[in-house]
Amino acid sequence: MPKPKHYRTSDPAYLRKRKACLAPDPLYCALCGERIDKTLKWPDPGCATADHIDAVSRGGHNLGPLQPAHKLCNEQKGPRARSGDRRRSEDAHVLPW
Ligand SMILES: [Zn+2]
Repeated sequence: MPKPKHYRTSDPAYLRKRKACLAPDPLYCALCGERIDKTLKWPDPGCATADHIDAVSRGGHNLGPLQPAHKLCNEQKGPRARSGDRRRSEDAHVLPW
């Protein structure tokens, strides 16, 4: 049995996939459809990032399918699948008397 990998971006298999994902030229953002300027470097908001189609934070595999995306678009997409905002119950202690 292969050991489960807990590291993500340092995984050579991931890095290969990421490189292949960002290789096309011109490269287009899968989220907004605009061209990605590959000359921009991290942490420029317009730089190229490899976005997990099935976000790892939502149970997707780190080696799952990737798509190119602007850093900004990727961040705005974010790990949004937080189910049910935890509501503060501070207003709930209203006494009957
Ligand atoms: Zn974009």
